[in-house]
Amino acid sequence: MVNLYKNKFYAVFGNPINHSKSPDIHNFFYKLYSLDYKYIKICASKNFFLKDILSFFNKGGKGANITLPFKEKIFSLCNEITKRAQISGSINTLKKFDNGNILGDNTDGIGFLSDLLFHNIVKKKFNLLIIGAGGAAKGVIYPLLQFGCNIFLTNRTFERAKILSNKFKNFGNIESITLRNLSNMRFNLIINATSSGISNEVPLIPCNIINKKTICYDMFYGDKNTVFMNFCKSYGAKKIYSGIGMLIHQAAHSFFLWNNIFPDIKKTVNFLSKK
Ligand code: NDP
Repeated sequence: MVNLYKNKFYAVFGNPINHSKSPDIHNFFYKLYSLDYKYIKICASKNFFLKDILSFFNKGGKGANITLPFKEKIFSLCNEITKRAQISGSINTLKKFDNGNILGDNTDGIGFLSDLLFHNIVKKKFNLLIIGAGGAAKGVIYPLLQFGCNIFLTNRTFERAKILSNKFKNFGNIESITLRNLSNMRFNLIINATSSGISNEVPLIPCNIINKKTICYDMFYGDKNTVFMNFCKSYGAKKIYSGIGMLIHQAAHSFFLWNNIFPDIKKTVNFLSKK
């Protein structure tokens, strides 16, 4: 058992959690700014995760990231919830204040937008296609609409895309569209927000929507190009990105919430690429 009283402690909770790169990223941030903090990963119990998280805070934990499958289930733990977490319906960051109160925030959406801006691949009025209607899609829609993008949302189970686009229609231009009706449409940026990459699959989008000008982004990431990135490349896309930058940026926004320092992204990308 780690001694939680010695340093300031942060953690990521999930189940499973072994694959998580968050400790690498956050411990790099702490080293970069010479902070005597430590960030660990904790596999929370599927039934008693609230107890596990509370116990971490009671033992001196200062902040936590939350990942699958708990992001939508920890609202009751928080005394305060940010607007962006409320609107997205999920929490990926917790901060404990000195008075004991816990704040719930969501940095996934702003992290994604920050990564698009970092690569200079998004502009106001851009037409975006988001494929997927799960938690990841839900987390990024609000900041993209606030930024001024027009969103087309599609999903294998169309009904879920329809429900999600209705939920966000008061925040900007968003409409749902079936996979079949995408044929011959043009988008500035296509975002794969499905988990198809996990099973080495590609969502069934018509290939004629991709050309050399289409920017393609897969939220999934791995050690090499994902199948979706290779698929887009094979239909001519020149600018293709994986979700590792989103992961780094959401971590950076969590770090900022905890320490009021926005970490150096280029140094972090460089560090991770050498690991
Ligand atoms: P969810 O389980 O909440 O949603 C999964 C979505 O993927 C659904 O829309 C589902 O469609 C769709 N889907 C699954 N398999 C296929 C397939 N074979 N073909 C087409 N569609 C499919 O997952 P999340 O939204 O949480 O995660 C989605 C992806 O985003 C994952 O790859 C995850 O790793 C990544 N992610 C990356 C982050 C980052 O920081 N880079 C952060 C968060 C997520 P249906 O509704 O029909 O079942």
